[in-house]
Amino acid sequence: MSTQPPAASASLLRRYLNIALIWKMAVALVAGVVAGLVINAAGVQERALPVLDPLGEIFLNLLQMLIFPLIITTLIVGVTSISPQRLGRIGVKVFAFYLLTSAFSLVVGLGLALALSPGAGLSMPGRAEEEAAEVPSVVETLVGIVPANPFQALVQGNVLAIMFLALVFGLALTYMMNSEDERAQELGLFLRKGIDAAADLVFRVVRGVLEYAPVGVFALIAAVLADTGAEAIGPLLQLTGVVYGSVVLMVVVYALILLLFRVPLVRFFGAAKDPMVTAFVTRSSSGTLPVSTAAARRMGVREGVYGFSLPLGATVNMDGTAIYVGAATVFVANIAGQSLSVGELATVVLVGVLASIGTAGVPGAGLVMLTMATTSVGLPMAPVALVAGIDALLDMARTMCNVTGDLAGTRVVASTEKGMLRERDREDEEEHAQQRLSSPASGRGPGGG
Ligand code: ASP
Repeated sequence: MSTQPPAASASLLRRYLNIALIWKMAVALVAGVVAGLVINAAGVQERALPVLDPLGEIFLNLLQMLIFPLIITTLIVGVTSISPQRLGRIGVKVFAFYLLTSAFSLVVGLGLALALSPGAGLSMPGRAEEEAAEVPSVVETLVGIVPANPFQALVQGNVLAIMFLALVFGLALTYMMNSEDERAQELGLFLRKGIDAAADLVFRVVRGVLEYAPVGVFALIAAVLADTGAEAIGPLLQLTGVVYGSVVLMVVVYALILLLFRVPLVRFFGAAKDPMVTAFVTRSSSGTLPVSTAAARRMGVREGVYGFSLPLGATVNMDGTAIYVGAATVFVANIAGQSLSVGELATVVLVGVLASIGTAGVPGAGLVMLTMATTSVGLPMAPVALVAGIDALLDMARTMCNVTGDLAGTRVVASTEKGMLRERDREDEEEHAQQRLSSPASGRGPGGG
């Protein structure tokens, strides 16, 4: 192609690309909130939403488009870069971290809600009827992990099934690469190189997509607030406060766990901030996967851990959702004027944790889990419909918490495994080398980015 963009727009684009992503995201977030509230106040949703919705949808589509290429390539590269025994050990650690933090989050959400009683004294909405959503049983979820038809699994967006496929093929490739048979070994190494190249390619696309993220962030947040408006959250402010408060508490808990494993917090959150903002606005931990994977790489974690832990976390680890299920169940019980017994609270914890394993990291998935928890203890559906009204706002905080939990688990497990922090080790070494090289009086830092 010989057509060149005009110089002015080219330099404008270059200037845009040179600004750090986090600033673009922050500006987009604030501008989106202001725009959304103004649109709501002016009552011009009908004119604004047809513009905002497609812009936001393109962002969601771009992210979703990357999920499977990312899982398949990074998981195979990850699996083939470590021994099967080591993979098993990492898997057990990751799973244990996810399960324990999810159960803990549910207790935090329940506890804070029981202490602050959100919704007590609130009247029920008219006759809001809502059908209890169908939730797959644990057995169904487990069977669904083994796909009869890989293409169907792709089409249905079954992340666990695709992970299973990539894992099985990755393991077979590991054996092929280590085979005694020279031909098999050669082919295995060749294939591995190709998949490595594909993973590299996917990451280049990820970086490109992230440059569109600020536009998507602006459109998504503006659309939500244009729809609900500031007053809409008024009656449900207490529940919102409990959920957001618990999420903040949980982030502090992650920080403490990270400190326990001697992870530098500045470095962790410096890398985690992009996926946290993305999760907040997209309300999908699966959709945020490309951004969290990029963040894990920036933290220095190797594919051997994140290639497995992040896709798994996006599907089974939902600490923020667990908080929400706990808090919202108490809220529903308060509105219904029912108190929950210790046995019922235990049921909520169990159902909440199990449901989080079977529910995908997509917007609104937590609402399905809430329905499951409330029905399991015989609470009415009408107050759940009330919660559904502000679900988007709660979904933002809980998804951010879900993604932070995935990254914390990934980082913690990586520091318990030797050689799983490639970049960090290298950077640390470089930093030390530079410090040694520069004179003691030199105050100039390495100026990394
Ligand atoms: N949106 C959440 C996520 O993707 C799930 C939920 O609805 O709680 O992690």
